[in-house]
Amino acid sequence: MNLSLHCHPERGEGSAFSSSSQLKKQIPRAKNALGMTATLCVAAACLLVGAQHAAPLPPQPQTATYKPEWCKDLPRPEYKTLQRVLPEEPWFEVYKVAPGVFAIYEPHQSEEVISYLIVGTKQGLLFDTGMGIANIKSVVSRLTSRPVVVLNSHTHNDHVGDNWRFQFVYGMDTVFTRANAKGSHEDAQAEITPEQICGELPKTFNAKTYATKPWRISLFVHDGFKVNLGGRTLEILSVPGHTPDAIALIDRANGLLFTGDTYYPAPIWLYRPETNLDQYVASVKRLAALAPQVKTVLGAHNIPVASSDVLPKLLDAIEAVRAGKGEVKSEGAGKAMHTLDGFKFLLAEPKKGID
Ligand SMILES: [Zn+2]
Repeated sequence: MNLSLHCHPERGEGSAFSSSSQLKKQIPRAKNALGMTATLCVAAACLLVGAQHAAPLPPQPQTATYKPEWCKDLPRPEYKTLQRVLPEEPWFEVYKVAPGVFAIYEPHQSEEVISYLIVGTKQGLLFDTGMGIANIKSVVSRLTSRPVVVLNSHTHNDHVGDNWRFQFVYGMDTVFTRANAKGSHEDAQAEITPEQICGELPKTFNAKTYATKPWRISLFVHDGFKVNLGGRTLEILSVPGHTPDAIALIDRANGLLFTGDTYYPAPIWLYRPETNLDQYVASVKRLAALAPQVKTVLGAHNIPVASSDVLPKLLDAIEAVRAGKGEVKSEGAGKAMHTLDGFKFLLAEPKKGID
């Protein structure tokens, strides 16, 4: 695993908000890193550094038949019971998960990110815009003819990739959000190494120019802000922790809670410099308290539907992990996977002293 850390310059040292994507992208949400082959470097410089470390290079994953490890878990069985729509769509898989609610899933990239379109009688809200690898706006326009506003669960690159295509984008009023709205090249590029791709990239996709394009925030919003879609109201719950601008969305009348990256059924990434663990625990506490009012929890990676009893369990698990319980496995690169009661949290390892 360490080989690939030298493949790209570690970026983001100059900004608190753009941490090293290479550190991040080693571990698909699907699995922990163990058992994965190292990410292959494509630049000549990478091979040189690899040679210095005398690590064996992994098999060249450049053929059409190459499948990264995480890809072998797909399709996930949970999708069998969901209602698929727009089945001809090549990059996205779209599922109707509740009346007027569509999960727009990207299974061909290791984030397996899920964006949600929530439709009311007057307008729709798109909760995240995915990777920006294929055009999510064209999918949305086939799902609803109503005007659509974008709101992000948080502004990590895998959730904002197509923000630029939309005229109306709400943003949390945070420094982190404003910084990310300027776009970035490195985070996006780190998402498309051969280890990150399962199957075919879209024909129109240009790997060389792929970047998170900047977007314009049309309205700053805050905790408690309500969006009336017509016959359906969504309320923003500020749940900082994973990032400073992390939010959940609640549709109280329908018992739906969209949790973004605060909860999804895979290792939850809590190691980046913009993560604040104390805030994360407080935010999980807030969501767990809502569990009695919630029927369905909709997270932002891997699988779209969970029962609300996962929230108090998540709270117990993260509190226990912070109290030193659970199994801990180093993943290298300053990260460790903490496993407890079926939950996995990828945390930063405490920094070691010189001796
Ligand atoms: Zn994230």
